[in-house]
Amino acid sequence: MILADFDYVRPAGLDEALVLLGGHPGARVLAGGQSLLPDLGNGTTTARMLVDVRRLEELRGIGRTPDGALRIGAATTLAELAAHPLVLAGAPELAAAARANGDPQVRNMGTAGGNLSAAGRPTDLPVAALAADARVELAGPGGRRTVTAEDFAASGPPPATVVTALLVPAPGPAAAFEKTADRATRYPLCAVAVRITPGGPRIAVTGATARPQRLPEVESRLAGTAYTTEAVLAAFRAEPRELFVPGRGTSAEYLGHLAGVLTARALARAQAAPS
Ligand SMILES: Cc1cc2nc3c(=O)[nH]c(=O)nc-3n(C[C@H](O)[C@H](O)[C@H](O)COP(=O)(O)OP(=O)(O)OC[C@H]3O[C@@H](n4cnc5c(N)ncnc54)[C@H](O)[C@@H]3O)c2cc1C
Repeated sequence: MILADFDYVRPAGLDEALVLLGGHPGARVLAGGQSLLPDLGNGTTTARMLVDVRRLEELRGIGRTPDGALRIGAATTLAELAAHPLVLAGAPELAAAARANGDPQVRNMGTAGGNLSAAGRPTDLPVAALAADARVELAGPGGRRTVTAEDFAASGPPPATVVTALLVPAPGPAAAFEKTADRATRYPLCAVAVRITPGGPRIAVTGATARPQRLPEVESRLAGTAYTTEAVLAAFRAEPRELFVPGRGTSAEYLGHLAGVLTARALARAQAAPS
């Protein structure tokens, strides 16, 4: 039961949503509610107004931009994302990350924008967005703009701002996502996404680290190698242990090794994908 006292508003369009968010301190964006409503229920967050963006036309749909990138509307559900042919073909790590989320109910209600914005939890999509070199499209007091997934993962959505879409370069299937879930919560104990580019692999990790992040040192150790399991595990052993944040019955050593094993698996899967 949610005992908090707040108004609920369903704006007719994005502009109205932005006016509501900008004009009411304590207003929060509501999408699928899969993080926000439990947080309001258990008192870990507060709101004076919930601005429901889930049905806004401007946030819906998956298509291509003129330069061939995928544009994934922020209100796309995780279930839609996991099954969409354009995403499966062009950004399979993103489809797999969406598929790895929670259970069918969470995937049917939870949205791409909400999963990217659910700060404080190690959610699955940000790591795939990092590996894919994606950009996050925002609308807010400063107008419309895009930021890198890396900057967005570091700071989250600015105040009074709506994530409108995720823009993902979609060159093909040489990409993969692997996850070991925390058995109690289904959130990632460790999740890894990789994308193989001509310059070497892009590798991102979450769950095992303090926040979703790329691993540039591991990437450069592996560039030009055959991505064997031995090479990948050695590349992870060379990382400082402080990178991996122990907890939930794990040690930094265990998490570093797990990240290496998942990365080796993801690279093998990405290489095996038909081009
Ligand atoms: C039982 C259960 C299991 C789960 N398992 C997993 C899991 O395995 N992996 C995983 O990654 N997640 C998991 N989740 C979390 C779930 O996937 C996310 O909470 C969900 O994707 C968030 O999307 P939402 O649309 O429900 O966001 P909401 O809950 O509506 O919002 C989440 C946050 O994002 C903000 N927000 C939402 N949309 C926007 C937007 N367009 N612009 C700006 N800010 C926005 C909200 O203000 C809020 O702060 C689980 C949740 C539950 C309840």
